[in-house]
Amino acid sequence: MSATNLVILAVSLLVDFTSAGVPLPRYEALLKEQSAPSDPTLGLYDDEDKVVRLTVNNFNATVVDQNHGALVEFYNTYCGHCRRFAPTYKTLSDHLLPWSEVLIVAAIDCAAEENNGVCRNYEVMGYPTLRYLGPGFQPGPQHYGQSLHTQDIKEIRETLAGMVAAENLTSSHNNSHWPNFHYLSENDSASSLFEGLSSVKQYVVVVHEPENTTLGAEVALFMTQWPTVSVRRVVDPAVAAKFKIDPSNRPLSLVDRKGEITAYAAEPNSESYVKKLWEVLGKKNITTRPAKVHQPLATPPTKITGQNELINEVHRNKHFVYQADLEQAIRTVLHNEVSKVGEISGEKLLALQRFLAVLQRYNPLGANGHQLVSKLKDYVVQFNEQVSGSQFEEELKRLEAQLSPVYSSTHFVGCAGSSPRLRGFSCSLWTLFHFMTVQAANNEESQDPLEVLQAMHGYIKNFFGCTECSEHFQAMASRRKIWSVPNKEEAVLWLWAAHNEVNQRLAGDATEDPEFPKKQFPATDSCSECYRTPASKSENLDIEWNKSAVLAFLKNIYNPLFISRYGVQREELLHPSEDKMRQKRQIINVFTDMDMRMGMLLYAFCIAMMVLAFKLFAFKGYRKKPYGHDVLGKV
Ligand SMILES: Cc1cc2nc3c(=O)[nH]c(=O)nc-3n(C[C@H](O)[C@H](O)[C@H](O)COP(=O)(O)OP(=O)(O)OC[C@H]3O[C@@H](n4cnc5c(N)ncnc54)[C@H](O)[C@@H]3O)c2cc1C
Repeated sequence: MSATNLVILAVSLLVDFTSAGVPLPRYEALLKEQSAPSDPTLGLYDDEDKVVRLTVNNFNATVVDQNHGALVEFYNTYCGHCRRFAPTYKTLSDHLLPWSEVLIVAAIDCAAEENNGVCRNYEVMGYPTLRYLGPGFQPGPQHYGQSLHTQDIKEIRETLAGMVAAENLTSSHNNSHWPNFHYLSENDSASSLFEGLSSVKQYVVVVHEPENTTLGAEVALFMTQWPTVSVRRVVDPAVAAKFKIDPSNRPLSLVDRKGEITAYAAEPNSESYVKKLWEVLGKKNITTRPAKVHQPLATPPTKITGQNELINEVHRNKHFVYQADLEQAIRTVLHNEVSKVGEISGEKLLALQRFLAVLQRYNPLGANGHQLVSKLKDYVVQFNEQVSGSQFEEELKRLEAQLSPVYSSTHFVGCAGSSPRLRGFSCSLWTLFHFMTVQAANNEESQDPLEVLQAMHGYIKNFFGCTECSEHFQAMASRRKIWSVPNKEEAVLWLWAAHNEVNQRLAGDATEDPEFPKKQFPATDSCSECYRTPASKSENLDIEWNKSAVLAFLKNIYNPLFISRYGVQREELLHPSEDKMRQKRQIINVFTDMDMRMGMLLYAFCIAMMVLAFKLFAFKGYRKKPYGHDVLGKV
């Protein structure tokens, strides 16, 4: 059998383990007990996955001070990189399911506001972040678990095996399934292997572990699902020889209670070792723990209620900007992103002050929202040195309670995805920044061309929970010379072009919503005059734009008077006079360009006919004058 086939077999075998012999009882309970996030539209993992979903409500009880270890992923639903990593993490959780008596694979969604405190306390600086929390783990200052700096399944597995094995050597905890990770020494023999072992154990597997590998530890962890088998590691070839092990040919052996030893050949990787043991033990009718089929708790939400209606509305009005999205962006920024930061000082504090100042000036919220932002800004500005995320959150909640109600809507409209895990916050954040650049361009008082772009740059760099996006954006900003933008209109266009570059990079990406494919914006059917090249070429990367038409288009769609209130639940909170203009624009948008031209022609024709009729009438009237009296008979 070729090496490749063997690897494939081994991997499929590992996957088989998960479906055949596990989940194990306690893990099963954890999967069942996991509390679903209060917002069902969030979260990258569902009941079908072997990833234990953590929230503020079950975090401590599941991973703090437990007798098992935990791999915890801190992620943000709206972070593209987290979305791309999710399938890998699911596969990893399948692979590591056999380890579940010793280590669970868990994840917490830091985009869910309820989890702010946890993500803040664990000082999560980038997303996704992987941390190992060992058995008996207690969080404390500078003690937030050990970080794993890889997203490769094999490397994660090896790193974890090393961490778990090291744990065993340094701490004491009460877990009868925990393998004995101590290496065998020259004092050990076939008979001494069973000393102190429970009578349930019928076999001890001895595994040769080449130096600087975690092979033996990995095998010991995989074998925790065989209750009658124990695993011991050996490094020293002389000691290994006592167990009939030849590291290059027969690197593992099976020892029974009678002291009989049988050595086996296997490729030098844990998958191959486990496969061989599975085969050997199967022949001896030694099995894993009884299979427990994981029962999903409920069908995961695939569509938000009323989603089709929303999507139809958004497809009908492709370039509409929705009040609901602007509000969701602000709410998430304040409640989730800023509140989640542990310490806001230095550059971060300045960035927050700038952002709030710009938001105060170009605030799309109603009167209460205006008060909220300006009071929040005043609150933050009084701090010269630092303010903590929790202080900010406390003040935000106090002000919101005082000014309530602040927001007119509670969900995305234009940024709603066809599935709860798509689009959302990052879409609304773009929308908010475009909105603000356009407001700045229309504001006579402000002369600073970089006002909004600088606030955006600071925000994205210091607070945006999509780490990969933030890094890309900063690189793009310097490549596209953001600090040299000469005027406010160019700032509108700078952001438009930068966003299009991101659209182009992400077209066809796994994070793309099939209902809303990434295209160059605006599409030809929204603004044909924005294109100098023929419409048919609009998908090309080298579109020749008519920038003045693009600017006019952006100024039009991001005009506060034309922001759609579709999906808004409390319209009374918003400025009343905007409604008429909005309706007018909606009517205009019902007609195509051709309709409009025909309408204008008809209108001109009617005017001409009226003028003609009037002239004819007047001329006739003039000719009747010779009668010398009017209709009343007066002369
Ligand atoms: C600053 C920033 C950087 C990002 N970088 C990354 C990254 O590196 N990797 C990653 O995976 N994700 C990144 N994202 C997320 C990504 O850009 C999208 O927001 C996400 O994939 C959701 O896409 P969407 O289809 O909802 O539309 P979005 O691209 O979010 O667009 C939102 C809305 O803006 C309008 N729009 C689109 N293009 C333009 C334009 N050029 N000018 C004006 N309006 C426009 C459309 O109405 C659209 O519906 C980033 C987000 C932000 C805010």
